Amino acid sequence: MSLEVRDLRVTYGTGAAAVPAVRGVDLSLAAGQKLGVAGESGCGKSTLALALLRLLPASARLSGEILLDGEDVLTMKWGRLRAVRWAGASIVFQGAMHSLNAVRRIGDQVAEPLLVHGRATPAAARRRAGELLEHVGLPAARAAAYPHELSGGQRQRVMIAMALACDPKLIVADEPTTALDVMIQAQILRLIEGLVTEQSISLLMISHDLAVLADTCDRLAVMYAGRVVEEGPARQVFEAAAHPYGRALSSAFPRIGDPASRRAPRGLPGDPPDPAGLPGGCAFHPRCPVVVESCAERDQQLREAGPGHRAACVHVGSVS
Ligand code: ADP
Ligand code: MG
Repeated sequence: MSLEVRDLRVTYGTGAAAVPAVRGVDLSLAAGQKLGVAGESGCGKSTLALALLRLLPASARLSGEILLDGEDVLTMKWGRLRAVRWAGASIVFQGAMHSLNAVRRIGDQVAEPLLVHGRATPAAARRRAGELLEHVGLPAARAAAYPHELSGGQRQRVMIAMALACDPKLIVADEPTTALDVMIQAQILRLIEGLVTEQSISLLMISHDLAVLADTCDRLAVMYAGRVVEEGPARQVFEAAAHPYGRALSSAFPRIGDPASRRAPRGLPGDPPDPAGLPGGCAFHPRCPVVVESCAERDQQLREAGPGHRAACVHVGSVS
């Protein structure tokens, strides 16, 4: 399934309290491709992920287009939207413990989407749940377990089994391994990557860890303050970022899942701005190591930084 996001804007609340969390994002993901979205906490990644299936709270106002195989999610009728969730596209969230029902057996929870969407009889759904658990590396007999009887990594595997239940064409994984230890993170990421490759599922994987994304995705988009500031082939963005923020992220995560530098990218002072009070000009300029005078006045659009590679920085593609 292809995904095309055009000029997506999401604002929480209104008036003086408005929080512009996503400010004009364009992305495209070809069928069967893997796109990574990176950026520090607060840059709008989860807002983007939730918008893709219209899972945002009622306080959020959206504009733009989100095309799944050319069909706009933002104008879909409710019944169609329900069918598209799970069956067309499905989401794996961060922190599986909160997404699983503590008082229901995991087998029943994996079977639920099949029943809700009328894909299987109860007996067939139960069988399929067992198969799905084995597919994500858990014994089918674990279907009888409750979430608290599983480790964090096992629970995240259950979430992946649920996401796969209705044979989705697109999976959105929002920091699927952040709460897990480093070894387990690598296993889960390899599992997701293997499954989507094997089944030609498109993948949009969100993380603040650029190294993880470079290792598992074809293309990378770097978000800052609600915008995509750099976008291109994964290796290119990771090894030769064109935007100073992309460079800061790639030097912050020299290897997969390095927990040491998780919070503050090395060499990058401060935090991302509060979207309710963005600095003028380029939103990154107060933290930028290569800032020039005009950066405080003029924001930059994405520009060609190489083949299939774009970045929004005054230093990119400048003639002088
Ligand atoms: P990320 O996933 O990159 O950490 P989020 O999309 O979660 O970023 O958040 C982007 C911004 O939107 C943050 O400033 C956050 O505080 C704000 N935000 C997120 N959810 C809500 C909400 N329900 N109401 C108001 N503001 C929100
Ligand atoms: Mg998030």
